[in-house]
Amino acid sequence: MDFNLTEEQLLIKQAAKDFAQNELLPGVIERDELQKFPKNEVQKMGELGFLGMMVDPKYGGSGLDTLSYVLVMEELSKIDASASVIVSVNNSLVCWGLETYGNEEQKEKYLTKLASGQIIGAFCLSEPEAGSDATSQKTTAIDQGDHYLLNGTKNWITNGGTADVYLVIAQTDKEKKHRGINVLILEKGTDGFEIGPKENKLGIRGSDTHSLLFNDVIVPKKNRIGEDGFGFKFAMKTLAGGRIGIAAQALGIAAGAYELALKYSKQRKAFGTEISNHQAIAFKLADMHTQIEAARYLVYKAACDKDKGHDYDLSGAMAKLYASKVAMETTVEAVQVHGGNGFVKEYHVERLMRDAKITQIYEGTSEIQKIVISRSILK
Ligand SMILES: Cc1cc2nc3c(=O)[nH]c(=O)nc-3n(C[C@H](O)[C@H](O)[C@H](O)COP(=O)(O)OP(=O)(O)OC[C@H]3O[C@@H](n4cnc5c(N)ncnc54)[C@H](O)[C@@H]3O)c2cc1C
Repeated sequence: MDFNLTEEQLLIKQAAKDFAQNELLPGVIERDELQKFPKNEVQKMGELGFLGMMVDPKYGGSGLDTLSYVLVMEELSKIDASASVIVSVNNSLVCWGLETYGNEEQKEKYLTKLASGQIIGAFCLSEPEAGSDATSQKTTAIDQGDHYLLNGTKNWITNGGTADVYLVIAQTDKEKKHRGINVLILEKGTDGFEIGPKENKLGIRGSDTHSLLFNDVIVPKKNRIGEDGFGFKFAMKTLAGGRIGIAAQALGIAAGAYELALKYSKQRKAFGTEISNHQAIAFKLADMHTQIEAARYLVYKAACDKDKGHDYDLSGAMAKLYASKVAMETTVEAVQVHGGNGFVKEYHVERLMRDAKITQIYEGTSEIQKIVISRSILK
């Protein structure tokens, strides 16, 4: 493996770092406090090409590799994980799914606008009774000839209120179990499609999480992605790539907290010396640095597997499992290094600690990643 970044990758990483410092950092505490969606910032990320990073330029994308995407996710997440999850969902779940499995008409109509950031997308799999057990879909898409009739509820949908295009997973034929599931493109404003209240969350509070309600929603058949019954496979394939994005988010959160702790430890004095001179603090920093570096290699390896056309189910699951653990542990320790200041908002580490938790839950909990990993190594 060669992780020496190319000149192009270094430039992209720097662009994301500059954007995060100049555009995301100034309002990040207020957005977290007020649960305010970063509307202007998302628009600017679209202009920078961050919302369709791996999409072919002929569909409005940046035409970059997964490693570049991971570098951007890492830099954005150091400062604002609410902004980076919007980038992750739009890139990994919506654009990648549409570009890989959509037909030409669907790509021209939706992908071009999504990849250029003119509109954003949402990926709608989870339901009140179908989270980890995603095969237990209760939302139905009944075949009515030229259209599907969509009924049901989705839960926890990122970009739920702000998206314009929703990829909705639903059961068409219950008898066929997961082979009877479809994925449909649904536009905001369609009759019978209602957006539920916004969730009041522990972390990533700037991102927009809603339940969605479908009441006899008519979706034209031409909005189905792939063959009849392809929906579950679509969801699993897109989530396998999505995990690499969330692993990079976790890596960024950990690295952001570590950088703040390192800087603080060299400024804050206790017992007549900088706290970094106390071995208990220095060892915390040593552990953080080592674990973050290990997480980084796993995340980059998964991205490289995807870029090389290798299987990335295992490497993506390992990267997410490990990087999210490191994010949680590092942020807790970063708060500790900051002492009382770690407990207040202006030092940022308490927010990073709250944001870290979600990386162990969404796009497959840590327990589900262990199922994926153990199945892969035992087969
Ligand atoms: C902020 C946020 C944003 C989200 N965004 C989206 C989105 O955009 N689109 C979307 O579709 N979903 C989204 N989700 C949903 C998310 O993916 C689910 O919450 C997650 O998959 C877990 O499902 P659940 O909440 O139903 O938990 P459950 O499945 O009920 O799990 C509860 C606990 O049981 C454990 N568990 C379950 N089954 C097993 C098993 N077989 N073995 C061992 N342990 C098990 C889990 O690991 C967990 O610890 C989001 C969630 C949140 C909180």
